[in-house]
Amino acid sequence: MNMSSSVPSRTASESSRVPFGKALQRFISANVLNPLSDIKGGSNRLAILSQLRQSQWRTRHELLKEQRSRLADAIAYAGTHSKYYRDLFAREAFDCRSFTLEQFSRLPLLDKSVVRNQIDALIVDGVRKESLIEAKTGGSTGHSLAVYSDEPWQQRRGADAMRADEWSGWRLGMQKGAVWGNPPQPESAFARFKDRWLYCLDLYLDTMNITPQSMDAFVAEWRKRDIDVLFGHAHSLFILADYLRGRGDHGMRPVGIIATSMMLLRNEREVIEEVFGCPVTNRYGCEEVALIACECEQHQGMHLNVEHLYIEFLNEQQQPARPGEMAEIVVTDLYNRVMPLIRYRVGDTGVYSDRSCPCGRGMPMLEEVVGRMADFLKRRDGSRVSGVSLVERTLTAIPGLAQMQLVQTALDHIELNLVRGPGYTDRSTQQLIGELKEVFGEDLRVDVNFLEQIPRETSGKYRFAKCLV
Ligand SMILES: [Zn+2]
Repeated sequence: MNMSSSVPSRTASESSRVPFGKALQRFISANVLNPLSDIKGGSNRLAILSQLRQSQWRTRHELLKEQRSRLADAIAYAGTHSKYYRDLFAREAFDCRSFTLEQFSRLPLLDKSVVRNQIDALIVDGVRKESLIEAKTGGSTGHSLAVYSDEPWQQRRGADAMRADEWSGWRLGMQKGAVWGNPPQPESAFARFKDRWLYCLDLYLDTMNITPQSMDAFVAEWRKRDIDVLFGHAHSLFILADYLRGRGDHGMRPVGIIATSMMLLRNEREVIEEVFGCPVTNRYGCEEVALIACECEQHQGMHLNVEHLYIEFLNEQQQPARPGEMAEIVVTDLYNRVMPLIRYRVGDTGVYSDRSCPCGRGMPMLEEVVGRMADFLKRRDGSRVSGVSLVERTLTAIPGLAQMQLVQTALDHIELNLVRGPGYTDRSTQQLIGELKEVFGEDLRVDVNFLEQIPRETSGKYRFAKCLV
């Protein structure tokens, strides 16, 4: 997924031939609405983006030194303010105010089950989780998890994403179209205005319902508005590209394409790049700690987000892996002060490298990541439903589901493999079956298997939606 790309981006002279109305919209969004929104909301998002644009050109030595000092701050804070870490550090005789990286690397890893079952102890003293920003995630392994953050962390997350977007060719004010599941439904004209003018994203191809008609409508609207950047789940982007290729439609020319949330397979990348005439910028992250790594315009591996995270690659003995070795990815968030995550097991494996990128940026490289896999499931009318979107819609919405896997064996049959968590009741099963029938039709037959854990594929990956039809 990290091969170099021979597909040229839209050239500077092509990009400069932007119609006046569109250029004006970009200008107003970038120079008026976004700065005003930050000022009004007391947000540092654009200020952080500006720092990140500078820091990416610092040397690796400088970046890692800075990272080490932020790690010390984050650990000292957690050890002072979070009951979970106070207890853990006491048990481990770990001095959170004065430690070596060697001592740090002996701390136990943080499992998702701890985040699920000991969330109140993990969250820092005197903060109620109801006052925080909650995000529910299907994780990278189909595990349901609620994670918490505050407004300053969200601002940093936004700035991280914007810098990575810029590596794809996107610039503040450019409009994005997304291939994504369960898109937000703005409730007011003002919310719609903000989506388009401030966040520059209000065109979606809903991956809960991919049909030739929905793809045609998406493309027509894209053409009308001349959308600049396409964003989406890797495999969903491929489905759109493959459809357009089948129609012989090679007319869409975005400035950049950002693939995220799932593994980007080599052959799928080639189809997307051929159809849109533009390189794909592959990105890797998760809801719990946001952006972990992203490709730059060189497309030769992903730069690790070391300004925000301390990232470890561990072998099966939980010792530091060598460059080039497949390893478990473990992260420490340097900025989440309300719910510190220290040595958190993301659930993915990857390969890091000690080489430098020709772009000159100082951040170390992630060569490859083996992350979430999910198929699209099929409906009787031929439309397709993204397994990722479907699992997120059910797993994060229905109480008591710890982990799940959907296996479609026929158009009207789904086998549900479930791991029950606290709060699971018969009603959870009924709700889940109800959701599936809403998507696949009333005649859907659902068999539920309760398991201790969802088995991995022979490749070692979790595949949380499988289509055998
Ligand atoms: Zn680079």
